[in-house]
Amino acid sequence: MNEPIRAFRDPAERAGMEAALARVRSIAGRRYPLVIDGQRIDGSQTIASINPARPADVIGDVVAATLDDASHALDAATRAFGVWSKTSFAERSDLLVRAAAAIRRRKDEFNALMVLEVGKTWIEAEADTAEAIDFLEYYARQALALADPPPLIPSPLPESNVLRYLPLGVGAIIPPWNFALAIMAGMTCAAIVTGNTVVLKPSPDAAVVAAHFVDLLHELGLPTGVVNFVPGDGPTVGEAIVTDPRTRFISFTGSKAVGLRINELAARTGPGQRWIKRVVAEMGGKDAIVVADDADIPAAVAGVIGSAFGFGGQKCSACSRVIVDARIYDRFVDLLRAGAQTLVVGDPARPDVDLGPVINEKAAQKIGSYIEIGEREGRLVAGGKRLAESGYFFEPTIFADVLPSGRIAREEIFGPVLAVIRADDFEHALALANDTEFGLTGSVYTSDPARIRLARETFFVGNLYINRKCTGAYVGVHPFGGFNMSGTDSKAGGYDYLLLFVQPQSIAERTVTSTAV
Ligand code: NAD
Repeated sequence: MNEPIRAFRDPAERAGMEAALARVRSIAGRRYPLVIDGQRIDGSQTIASINPARPADVIGDVVAATLDDASHALDAATRAFGVWSKTSFAERSDLLVRAAAAIRRRKDEFNALMVLEVGKTWIEAEADTAEAIDFLEYYARQALALADPPPLIPSPLPESNVLRYLPLGVGAIIPPWNFALAIMAGMTCAAIVTGNTVVLKPSPDAAVVAAHFVDLLHELGLPTGVVNFVPGDGPTVGEAIVTDPRTRFISFTGSKAVGLRINELAARTGPGQRWIKRVVAEMGGKDAIVVADDADIPAAVAGVIGSAFGFGGQKCSACSRVIVDARIYDRFVDLLRAGAQTLVVGDPARPDVDLGPVINEKAAQKIGSYIEIGEREGRLVAGGKRLAESGYFFEPTIFADVLPSGRIAREEIFGPVLAVIRADDFEHALALANDTEFGLTGSVYTSDPARIRLARETFFVGNLYINRKCTGAYVGVHPFGGFNMSGTDSKAGGYDYLLLFVQPQSIAERTVTSTAV
């Protein structure tokens, strides 16, 4: 069972969140040290993690790791690997179950941290925390399955044979900011539950959430050196841990450009390096929803609005293209416009807000420039403005009549900007949906079983949804990850995910007749 997601209709639930927001505000500006080999280490430089709804509010000052710190973290992880790799799957699994329970007890606190550090609405923060719990519970159980692999075929020879899974070594864990708790914790825990040790470099935009999570693991008795916490800038600290010969694998989630760069850097062999580094990269998307002329149109409108504007379109799974059959196109666009205009934009610390800020000024600039491009490439039917408030707020923005060749139809924007594309018919719509370098999520709205079959056969995405939105994957229910430029075809929250963090060893033992007297 997945962790339930509360809607905060109950006054007691609302009061709990308000109290947690007050508590997190009361510790705003706190200094967060590095954690290397279990030691909390201060430094001369810090990264100010700010509230994107009120950029003057610093949520935490996170110590920025130097290259020396990154190297010490790799040393610590290498030392700890000697012991941690020998612990049992059961022991490591138990740690994840206890961590899930601790997060469950502290849900409101993690929710509040994400509302204030990354601008999530209450419900989006709640979903993120619930997903983190799900990842930990799920990987805890999958680890137990790895401890007990299926039997091999009996040997024709007088010998016994087993296959066992060994951890890889030291991993670089490089998460994005957008699922500040779930993805960061899921990536970290998948690596450690399989016996690896890690150097975790969180996103500078979400380092406070990560610091709280790393503290929680240590409070639960995680041995020192298993998770080392080195916040820092990607091109310096990130690349240092990716390229270091002590690193055995890289688990990355983020943009296509950075994923490709990491893949390339990881392919080079450093001095003394004894392995080919493994790269698990989950990358971006340009996800499409196809709406057929026989679709349940109100359901499709709601699905598109939820997928395109939930968390301001800042999900890899977000719908950024909606491809609509020409026969229903005008009606659909009218309803979409009306739906977008009902969304309340504002500070997500308020429970009634649907759409909070985008993450930072750089993202706001990028989104603003795509809106300018959209004005040339399409017909603005909703939104289009950055709000004149101090935070990074945009109206939910829709461009209709976008050509499939347009930049806003092809490039990941990662903001609340949706391109509507007209298709001649259902087959044409599917062809347009597939006309992308990405392949992460996609939805189809149709009531025709033959069309559903066609979509199942030809819509080339890692996560295909039929008659529902293209966001909101549940751990274990919708194993998540995309094709092509969306990543290395892995499935987070899937039953084979942990195999990415182990190496199988086959052992054959010939039966010997004892010669001892
Ligand atoms: P990003 O690529 O900018 O950064 C991701 C991480 O990489 C951060 O920790 C960053 O500091 C680090 N980094 C940046 N440059 C680096 C470098 N040269 N070397 C090593 N590390 C480096 O992405 P983001 O803005 O944090 O996240 C948004 C992106 O993540 C979007 O493209 C989104 O689609 C993608 N994403 C994908 C998935 C998925 O499951 N496929 C899930 C969430 C987000």
